[in-house]
Amino acid sequence: QELKASQRSPGNIRVFCRVRPLVSGGLSKHIQLPASDDKSIVLAKTEESHTGKVADTQKNYNFSFDRVFGPQASQQEIFEEISLLVQSALDGYNVCVFAYGQTGSGKTYTMEGEEYDDTRGVIPRAVQQVFKAGQKLAAQGWEFTFTASFVEIYNETLRDLLYTGKASKRPEHEIRKMASNEVTVTNLTYEKVYTEDQVQGLIAVAKRNRSTAQTSQNDRSSRSHSVFQLHIEGVNAGRDVTCKSTLCLVDLAGSERMMKSQSQGDRFKEMTAINSSLSNLGIVITSLANKESHIPYRNSKLTYLLQGCLGGNSKTLMFVNISPESDSFGETLNSLRFASKVN
Ligand code: ADP
Ligand code: MG
Repeated sequence: QELKASQRSPGNIRVFCRVRPLVSGGLSKHIQLPASDDKSIVLAKTEESHTGKVADTQKNYNFSFDRVFGPQASQQEIFEEISLLVQSALDGYNVCVFAYGQTGSGKTYTMEGEEYDDTRGVIPRAVQQVFKAGQKLAAQGWEFTFTASFVEIYNETLRDLLYTGKASKRPEHEIRKMASNEVTVTNLTYEKVYTEDQVQGLIAVAKRNRSTAQTSQNDRSSRSHSVFQLHIEGVNAGRDVTCKSTLCLVDLAGSERMMKSQSQGDRFKEMTAINSSLSNLGIVITSLANKESHIPYRNSKLTYLLQGCLGGNSKTLMFVNISPESDSFGETLNSLRFASKVN
């Protein structure tokens, strides 16, 4: 039996579970979403007996999260639930949104989505909201500066997704912590942005950058983390106040465990890097929730990069994306367990 919501420690991270539809639509039988509430999910494992009959040893795994979204949930419904969180980035809070889950579970669909208006994901919607809200606040004397960056972390190495120079001149990057406690990345493109369209253009540059890396290494995007950051600075001269925050939107590497036989050479190195950075993310989040004195940010590039945006004055939301196919049962259980540990 998994812990119930009331028994969990009160972390400051919210977790939303999203179940992707089956390719044919609908949901597998082993996933049950109680109609009476939108916070629970039950994973049922039935052991088929040798006679082909379903044995009575059905095992149910119950989980509860801040919200559970079924396969019909639209991109807009999802965004409505996080728009207040996004809004708080303009009130000076650092905001992080992660998508966690196995490859194919809908992380990129959730974060980036597709091109048509109603299938756009969290990143374009969040950017749109931030610009709109910034314009409204201008009437109250606020002037905002927005700066975007987009980084890929692959095998514990950073790659600038907004780089447009010659491939042979691509610089290397290091994460540095400044005296102000802010984190900066050397040689990274920090692009001032003035309009939503401009950000959409940057997202397209990032996509191209990722697909060129992809051609040399098949399926690389599922084995790397991609981190979009919008740095926000506001000044209100009339009231003599300023605010500063970062909105981080992160599409994590696939959480699946590889079979031992597959994991040799480069794949083994990748798997080790992914496993250790995802588990370190879990450790960082739980140590923040437990108010521990040492938070191991520097144990992975991902948490080091996000150090300023996790903990302290920040709001964190994690999507745990799951696939409904019954052959994903094991990975789904792992993902739900990971997510309930950080929740
Ligand atoms: P991941 O990034 O986790 O590997 P994707 O976001 O690429 O997974 O999703 C895998 C496939 O499923 C894609 O073809 C995507 O369009 C589709 N998909 C994922 N989530 C949904 C959803 N909620 N509704 C419709 N299609 C989805
Ligand atoms: Mg993806």
